[in-house]
Amino acid sequence: MAGFLLQLPNNIRNLSVFASNGLHSLPLWSPPGAPQSGGPVIIELPLDKIRRPLMRTRANDPQKVKDLMDSIREIGLQVPIDVLEVDGIYYGFSGCHRFEAHQHLGLPTIRCKVRRGTKETLRHHLR
Ligand code: ADP
Repeated sequence: MAGFLLQLPNNIRNLSVFASNGLHSLPLWSPPGAPQSGGPVIIELPLDKIRRPLMRTRANDPQKVKDLMDSIREIGLQVPIDVLEVDGIYYGFSGCHRFEAHQHLGLPTIRCKVRRGTKETLRHHLR
């Protein structure tokens, strides 16, 4: 008899299923009892929807940005940037070189790993 084997992670609470149209992702399924606020989600966000409060205080390495532009052009972004969402507003504090590379390449969106936070989390990042 033919069978079907689905291998799941040891901790099923970490498994969720999302539908994505490339821009937004919609949660389709989460395990029963999983926290609905959930863990981080991977979505494409428009660059102009991500606030970067520390942008003026930290300079990027221009050579790193150039190398990333070449690589992203060739193989795409391999690791999403980390983004914090507080009350529907997105904040980026890291991934500065990848973000700038996307800007120079004229890409409208960037793949982000978004996690929810509170105003307190935000204050902590701004300290
Ligand atoms: P950033 O300020 O964006 O974190 P870094 O130079 O410190 O810049 O690190 C570059 C990061 O970009 C690394 O974590 C690397 O794995 C990631 N990355 C994602 N996509 C690519 C790509 N296409 N080519 C090279 N590095 C990539």
